[in-house]
Amino acid sequence: MTTSGPNEQGQQEGQYTGLSAALFGLCPKCGARTLFAGFARFAPRCRACGLDLSAFNVGDGPAAFLTLIIGALITGLAIWLELAVHPPFWVHILLWVPLTAAAVAYGLRISKAWLLQAEYLRRAGEAGGSDLGKPRGGEEDKEREEP
Ligand SMILES: [Zn+2]
Repeated sequence: MTTSGPNEQGQQEGQYTGLSAALFGLCPKCGARTLFAGFARFAPRCRACGLDLSAFNVGDGPAAFLTLIIGALITGLAIWLELAVHPPFWVHILLWVPLTAAAVAYGLRISKAWLLQAEYLRRAGEAGGSDLGKPRGGEEDKEREEP
């Protein structure tokens, strides 16, 4: 486990975004690997820089999209495999069930991190980067629970 330094993509200073940041769950502000508390659940705030992650309301919006896309992809691959190799049926089960589960889980994690980055960047543009650490609505509802 390394907390990686500045990434190679020539981003603005102090912002860690892009595919690698989404893959590894890096905080968009400081780049520490603190974005997730659970597998696909955000930490309430960054443990390294204190960025209030609960203020970013990404939710599970990408889940439905993602499941559809992955389902289509897996179905296509399964049909291709069947036509090309004619494997026994258990091969399909062993192959596609874990693959689908992993793809949905990782896809959800990555797309949520990506959305949070996008929201962070949009706010950085709007707010000038000065008040990013503060929650949007003031003091109340710091403990927003997940649905
Ligand atoms: Zn941070």
